Amino acid sequence: MKTIGIIGGGQLGMFLALYAYKMGYETAVYDVKDDCCAKAIAGEFVLGSFDDEEKLEAFCKKCDVITFEFENINKELITKLAKKYNIVQRETPLVISSSRFNEKSMADELGISVPRWKFIEDEKSLVNLDLNYPFLMKSNSLGYDGKGQYMINKPEDLNEVEFAGVTYLAEEKLDFDYEISIIAFRSTTGEFVTYEPFYNIHHKGILNITINDPEVPEAVADEAKGYIERIMKEKDILGILCCEFFVKDDKVYFNEMAPRPHNSGHITMDTHYFSQYENHLRAILGLPLGSTQASNNGFMVNVLGQDVEKTKEFMSEYGDVAKYYDYHKEPVYNRKVGHLVVYDYQLLDWFIENWK
Ligand code: AMP
Repeated sequence: MKTIGIIGGGQLGMFLALYAYKMGYETAVYDVKDDCCAKAIAGEFVLGSFDDEEKLEAFCKKCDVITFEFENINKELITKLAKKYNIVQRETPLVISSSRFNEKSMADELGISVPRWKFIEDEKSLVNLDLNYPFLMKSNSLGYDGKGQYMINKPEDLNEVEFAGVTYLAEEKLDFDYEISIIAFRSTTGEFVTYEPFYNIHHKGILNITINDPEVPEAVADEAKGYIERIMKEKDILGILCCEFFVKDDKVYFNEMAPRPHNSGHITMDTHYFSQYENHLRAILGLPLGSTQASNNGFMVNVLGQDVEKTKEFMSEYGDVAKYYDYHKEPVYNRKVGHLVVYDYQLLDWFIENWK
């Protein structure tokens, strides 16, 4: 029986392992944390640093197909290992997605609209900065969920920015109407499919609510789908890719991409015939991709460490129309520890208003 190796053992790795097992595969997970949540699901767990070449190589050797569930892995090491082992996605999408500069440069190269931006190597790059206030300063790498980001409303706000050893992208603040994500798959056989857009609401830079909303105008959906198809085909990306977009006046602007299952895609486990996990596994295994059609409506709500008690209260009252997925993680403030899927749209306004 084939073994699927998953580098990274967070909740995305946990769900990947779960689906791989259900699909008849053995699974092995590699992570630096002995208490990572995928450990309990994986057939085999290997504890090791993401820079430990020997250990990672021994891990790859045991697996027939290898994938990853997060993007900040040692790219040089993956490049080396991909030459010898079946890391289907290879290093290309990691190289692009681990640097905002690379992402935005790729978008410019492929004619994909982005908010105006400038690379900030150090404080000197701020001279003659041709951007209006307000703008964002986003750390070039290792920034996610709003981390490493500063809103610059006036010149003095730049005093807050930590420059030592960090490069940034200065990016115009777009007064967008809404945000969407598109999740697409490109199989080793060349097959390409995408889900319809998910409508995402963020709070303080962290995904808060995802709505499986088929009401995004078709032209907007088509523009976003066309962008992700262009990225995957031009950059020869295989497996899964999620792109996040801003929409303003029905025009789509690329924000960032992730070559792994995405938080907004959790919803596909309950609202689609085939989940993002199944389709990603099929794509890297060269199996026919599943339909990307929604089977029913629903919305997803992220549960952070501070939300655990109110989640219990919510579930005790509305358990007949909602499910809670628990990631078995310590409930630390702002840490994603679970998610809710809610089928009753009448509750959506309450969540938008109160789930902060
Ligand atoms: P990011 O880490 O780039 O995904 O940013 C996290 C969130 O911050 C996004 O989902 C948006 O809600 C907000 N954001 C990021 N960039 C911009 C921008 N250029 N204009 C307005 N809002 C932004």
